[in-house]
Amino acid sequence: MQMRLKLFHEAKAPLANGHRRDTLLLLSDEEFENNHGFIQWAFPTPTPSKNPTDAPVLDLGSAIYLSEDKDFVIFIENMTARFLEFLKRNDHWKRKYNHNHLRISRALESIRILHSYELSDWFLKTVLQFSEEAHGMMSDTHRHWQSHISQSHDRVAGAFVGLAIGDAMGAPVEFCSRGTFVPVTHYRSGGKFQLPAGAWTDDTAMALGLAQSLILEKGFEPRSVLQNFSDWMEHGHYTSTGTCVGVGQNTLRTLGDFRRTGALKAVPFGKKNDGNGSLMRLAPIPCFYTSDDELVMNIAREQSLITHASEIAAEACQFLALLLSYLIRGEDYIVAKRRTLEKEWSYPLLSSVDLDYKGFSVAGIKSGGYVLDTLQAAIWAVENGTDFKSIVLNAVNLGADADTTAAVAGQIAGAIYGYAGAERDLKTDLLKERELYVTSQFLGNQTNEK
Ligand code: MG
Ligand code: MG
Repeated sequence: MQMRLKLFHEAKAPLANGHRRDTLLLLSDEEFENNHGFIQWAFPTPTPSKNPTDAPVLDLGSAIYLSEDKDFVIFIENMTARFLEFLKRNDHWKRKYNHNHLRISRALESIRILHSYELSDWFLKTVLQFSEEAHGMMSDTHRHWQSHISQSHDRVAGAFVGLAIGDAMGAPVEFCSRGTFVPVTHYRSGGKFQLPAGAWTDDTAMALGLAQSLILEKGFEPRSVLQNFSDWMEHGHYTSTGTCVGVGQNTLRTLGDFRRTGALKAVPFGKKNDGNGSLMRLAPIPCFYTSDDELVMNIAREQSLITHASEIAAEACQFLALLLSYLIRGEDYIVAKRRTLEKEWSYPLLSSVDLDYKGFSVAGIKSGGYVLDTLQAAIWAVENGTDFKSIVLNAVNLGADADTTAAVAGQIAGAIYGYAGAERDLKTDLLKERELYVTSQFLGNQTNEK
């Protein structure tokens, strides 16, 4: 974590060109225009600043810390309003080149990462309204701003946090047979692991470990991912409650091998290889490698093989990764599924997914731990739902491996509807929601096709 950024935002140190945080809100328009170097402190981003070069660079740890701090949330909202006030009262920035354009870009990215897509989108729309009459002159600038905040960023958040929402909704009824429990409508406490409402399990913990490794290593590094999985199992890192719950059999065995021998690939054992444990945690891969079909499929396969010695599990991961990457890029679900099906797939995989599942009887849908059953059940849930929540609930209420089926359905639903499309209380009642959201935005920042 950036200690200087922490000290500044705890309002303890005058750092931004000698300003304390709270005095920034009191700057006159003239001071706002002429004082350089405070923007990087008020609106920190992961992009280093060329001027001044000692300005803070936002890393994942600092971003999680700030986003979880209620005072910071109020500050960034006030600072956003203050910036808009300045832009509304002044006209000099409405021309081809002006230093405020860079400040606007920075604010858009910072607000999206540390607060929300919605606030950043509102900021951009208001700025565009102010600069409407200068549109011709500023069209390149407008495009540049748009690249810092787009619906793709929101769909990345949807796919990643959607996984966690499905996991947390399904956890209390995991291992319950279909029809034997009161249908789930929201988070509830209980289940085999006696978790509080809104808590998530191994599915999300492993996804978070995978995501944070991708961000830190700037790509897929098996050793680093397995180390994070190990830290999860041994020390409860990446968990919602501090305790590791629900380790799958493949994962347990593979992590044992990794710790003993440093093995980076799972070896086969019995009939248990084809479990859904590598599919449930997949979202970070298409969020990170969004724009390259071949790369997203290759890495999806690699990430499966580190814990599951199964061709069919690897293929299921390739299918879901490609589908999610098309959705994140903005394809309609029907088109995304058709384009994904155009690639070459084995007969077992095709016979699980190449069907119109709308109206397909629930009696024909299995929701156990076999990877193709999970993929099929998630697609069934998507095609029989009308919005984010109904898709997730369709999957949860199938019972059995409910958390994992819903984690997969939640990834797809989130990539379709975006995080803005998920009901507010599903976000506010989810444990460690800020850490998940901010992590998704660091994942999505790596891709350039938005
Ligand atoms: Mg689980
Ligand atoms: Mg499960």
